[in-house]
Amino acid sequence: MLTLNETHDANLTSWVASANNANNKSSDFPIQNLPFAIFRRKGSKESFRAGVAIGDQILDMAAAYQTTVFSEDRSTGKVRKALKACCDETLNRFMGLGFEHWSALRRALFHALRTGADEESELSGCLVPMADVEYRLPCQIGDYTDFYTSIYHATSVGSLFRPDNPLLPNYKWVPIGYHGRASSIEVSGHSFRRPCGQTKAPDADQPSLGPCKRLDYELEMGIFIGAGNASGEAIKLDQADQHVFGLCLFNDWSARDIQAWEYQPLGPFLAKNFASTVSPWIITLEALVPYFTTFERPVDDPQPLPYLDSEKNRQQGSIDIQLSAHLLTEQMSQKGEAPAQLSQSSFRHSYWTINQMVAHHTVNGCNLQPGDLLGSGTQSGPKPEEAGSLLELSNGGKKPLSLPNGENRTFLEDGDTVIFKGYCEKQGHARIGFGNVQATILPALTDSGE
Ligand code: CA
Repeated sequence: MLTLNETHDANLTSWVASANNANNKSSDFPIQNLPFAIFRRKGSKESFRAGVAIGDQILDMAAAYQTTVFSEDRSTGKVRKALKACCDETLNRFMGLGFEHWSALRRALFHALRTGADEESELSGCLVPMADVEYRLPCQIGDYTDFYTSIYHATSVGSLFRPDNPLLPNYKWVPIGYHGRASSIEVSGHSFRRPCGQTKAPDADQPSLGPCKRLDYELEMGIFIGAGNASGEAIKLDQADQHVFGLCLFNDWSARDIQAWEYQPLGPFLAKNFASTVSPWIITLEALVPYFTTFERPVDDPQPLPYLDSEKNRQQGSIDIQLSAHLLTEQMSQKGEAPAQLSQSSFRHSYWTINQMVAHHTVNGCNLQPGDLLGSGTQSGPKPEEAGSLLELSNGGKKPLSLPNGENRTFLEDGDTVIFKGYCEKQGHARIGFGNVQATILPALTDSGE
């Protein structure tokens, strides 16, 4: 059961000193967080393996497995099995073990990393400074499904693409989504080329092929599936959280001019499949329990159908995660200036909850698998300045944004780096963060190969 337990106790600290600064916001990773990534020392030939963030350090799970701390005599079978799976080069096997194993390992790590723990002497040798590592995708992503759960985003984008009919009638009944492309998802820190594609200006007679002129980001949450379901069996709403391993920050890059021309009747295709970026750290759903909050539907809106409705979902279906998007242009970067914040929002505004997404995705018997990724859809909030894309912030490219250094943007330019951050904060609980996700845009590939 996902409930508050001793691993959420805000008063407890770690013997890793840098983990104890969460209240002054210097670390996203206090002992109450304990997220997972796949890493190795930068530039080394080491095998990739799982790590757990603690302050500015990473607890190397393969090294920890070799200590006596989590040996057969001192650990439960679940902890030992979970830790062994964390020695793999991906998290898939660990994710597939299910909630009982994730939770047992979290509890064991929490106790071993606490101030005063006997385990310090052995585990201190298993720490790797975060600054010295490189990451790769936390798991092999078999399938990627992108939802569309912000009604504010759906309405404002709909009004740009279909002014007479912004929000389609199914929106308030169906957690809308489409099947995306997993092969082009990369971990934070990469660069990718501006996509080329077919576009058609409204006044043009016919479309043409060329580099995207309206390249955009989408501020989303990524939701990693842990234990899957058998084909033909649905995951029930109130059990769905047992199947969700955790959340990351997710940028679902979008080519708006390609999208506008191609999206009807079957939805996004080349406008969305060229690149998406995940943050290296997956925050487990159990770490997020303190920030679960009520899921509310406006009284005038249709209430969800019974398979998407429950008391538990109403009481604690939403998660209050603060999200922000930042832009570092090439010019800012060259001058050593700080990135400019473009907007901020919260995942709590989502029109559908994670459990509703999972229950709906499987209601037809579709089988989810360990490592599958669900995108939440762009998380725009109710206010215009809470929009999660440039399409919305620039009102469809009509109103350029002024950046603090005097530059303007309607859409992204070559050399731009987009950075998302996320954190949870609540009175009486530790502040936990997601780290960040970032990627940089390179010029389009031209015929000359440049
Ligand atoms: Ca998206």
